[in-house]
Amino acid sequence: MKVNFLGTGAGLPSKYRNTQSIVFNFMQELKECWMFDCGEATQHQIMSTTIRPSKINKIFISHFHGDHILGLIGFLSSRSFLLNKDEEPITIYGPVGIKEFVDFNIRATYSTLNYKINFVEFDSSNKILENEDVVVESVELDHTVKCYGFKISFKNKKGTLNVEKLQQLGIKPGPFYRTIKEQDVFEYNGVNYNSSDFLSKEKKGKVITIIPDTIFFDDIIKIIRNSDILITECTYLKEDELQLAKNHKHMNIVDIRKIQKSCDINKIFLTHISSRYDKNTIKEIQEQLEENLIVVKDLDEFNL
Ligand SMILES: [Zn+2]
Repeated sequence: MKVNFLGTGAGLPSKYRNTQSIVFNFMQELKECWMFDCGEATQHQIMSTTIRPSKINKIFISHFHGDHILGLIGFLSSRSFLLNKDEEPITIYGPVGIKEFVDFNIRATYSTLNYKINFVEFDSSNKILENEDVVVESVELDHTVKCYGFKISFKNKKGTLNVEKLQQLGIKPGPFYRTIKEQDVFEYNGVNYNSSDFLSKEKKGKVITIIPDTIFFDDIIKIIRNSDILITECTYLKEDELQLAKNHKHMNIVDIRKIQKSCDINKIFLTHISSRYDKNTIKEIQEQLEENLIVVKDLDEFNL
């Protein structure tokens, strides 16, 4: 799985940062790409990547502030031009009101889409998607308007088959191997065997938490705790800007440190960066951070 940061700025576009959007390439895991927030000009940013808009079939919107949503209608409209003849429906997950917002703007701009949009609206912390591979929960945050984060939990996967051990029993590779993997118990030559005796250890599914705009609050630790990867806003990167961050209901590097201490996370990506810092300042700040704490920039791509 990969993550692409299409826009990493806060509030308004600046010379070096577009407004918010993140795309996950889950092609290997789910044969899908997912977008989180869609700030203005997100579709322009996509052109500088290998992401195909037709492969994005789920969009998650955190809240209605313009820097997170003003690119949505443009993206949806252009996607219609880029699709092959096979319709690829899209599902938009967002706070209550997202359907009204999209429907109105599509109508008002005389846009016609050649694919269907499904909507999943929520107004609290809830499980908003579950299938055999993954669960996604919305998590309520504390911002100047209702705002939600998202927790993506991939389910654990069964281990790989011990072919040597199976062949010792006389079971040759073939479709029966699939049955053994899928069932808890299998029968061979009139004897019952536990499949787990022929499988390596279960592979733990990754947990990725995305925290868009919020002030720090104690329960955020509970939300984030068992994550492997955290992508979080950190609008203000200097310790002496803590009060400023609180005033605007955003987070500061001091808050991130608290999260880092309480949760054992492999990698923390910091985004939604204020335009007040120039490139040199960002470089200096990054040099003082641990290796697993990364201030991202537009078009950064990471393997997860
Ligand atoms: Zn906001």
